[in-house]
Amino acid sequence: MSVPPAQRQANGGPGAPERVPLLAVDNLEKRFPIVKGLFSRVSGQVHAVDGVSFHIHAGETLGLVGESGCGKSTVGRTLLKLLEPTAGTIRVAGVDITALDAKAMLPYRKRLQMIYQDPYASLNPRMSAGQIVGEPLIIHGMGRQTEQRERVASLFERVGLRPELMQAFPHEFSGGQRQRIGIARALALNPELIVGDEPVSALDVSIQAQIINLLMDLQDEYKLSYLLVAHDLAVIEHISHRIAVMYLGRIVEMTDKASLFAMPLHPYSEALLSAVPIPRASARRRQRVILKGDVPSPINPPPGCHFHTRCPYAHARCRSERPALREVSPRHWAACHLHDAGPALPLALPLARPRPGAA
Ligand code: SF4
Repeated sequence: MSVPPAQRQANGGPGAPERVPLLAVDNLEKRFPIVKGLFSRVSGQVHAVDGVSFHIHAGETLGLVGESGCGKSTVGRTLLKLLEPTAGTIRVAGVDITALDAKAMLPYRKRLQMIYQDPYASLNPRMSAGQIVGEPLIIHGMGRQTEQRERVASLFERVGLRPELMQAFPHEFSGGQRQRIGIARALALNPELIVGDEPVSALDVSIQAQIINLLMDLQDEYKLSYLLVAHDLAVIEHISHRIAVMYLGRIVEMTDKASLFAMPLHPYSEALLSAVPIPRASARRRQRVILKGDVPSPINPPPGCHFHTRCPYAHARCRSERPALREVSPRHWAACHLHDAGPALPLALPLARPRPGAA
């Protein structure tokens, strides 16, 4: 179901930034047809992304978090137009790129790059590391051969790899080194925004910290923006300025990381956060929230609030009416009927008092 423009505008964060953001995604939808039989009849659709809106400013990191299969990776691929969106708009510095063809997209391919989850599968095993990092320079005709070689060598140094390793092949590197090659390749064209699709989830914990620190250093140095997709809130917390929580194709909560960790407003965020270890003594004590059941199928998502089949606070209205993503408190948006009728209240199980909007 689409969110009306007026409602999206009222969402503030997703729809009405004060200055032109580097990236603005408005009511993005992506559905995949399910094709069956000899005549390739379309028998249904996977609702992977269902009306997602957000923006990212220069130098900012937005973390997109949710369980596997919630559509967060599809958001990343669709906004880079590696997948064609079903509906919605994607704007880069105010320019609508949604309908651009491959040729018209070329200048934007330089500005928007991607880092993949599996650093081994994403690197061509038949190319040397130097060729992999230099390939985008050749495709976009940037510089002569010597300049390209020098650029690749400096990128190797910048991501913490010795330039002598340019001749080596992907299988000769460790997992962390392979991810550094992927980062160097993404940096080759001087992008403004990088989408990281679970960029550290395939790595050991100690290596994860090194790669995250590298990404943060690169952001400072090049004023990069990131959309970082992850299922691990602990990773997202460290690197993100703001966090958007996704459930079954929709953003259910979005705010700065301090607000989210201090007072989650959506029951799904509360459950995710309750599983994150809290090292700080000052942090609010959290009761572990165990969600019942599995994530429903995106082929036939539940009506109303998608989360109502698992939500401990669900009431009659949740089963029929989709909650809008609303600014419940300043710069803190949540899509939950519990907050429809008044200021934000902290969630806490078991429910101790009647909440606004609960029937
Ligand atoms: Fe739970 Fe209802 Fe809020 Fe959805 S709208 S999160 S089901 S209380």
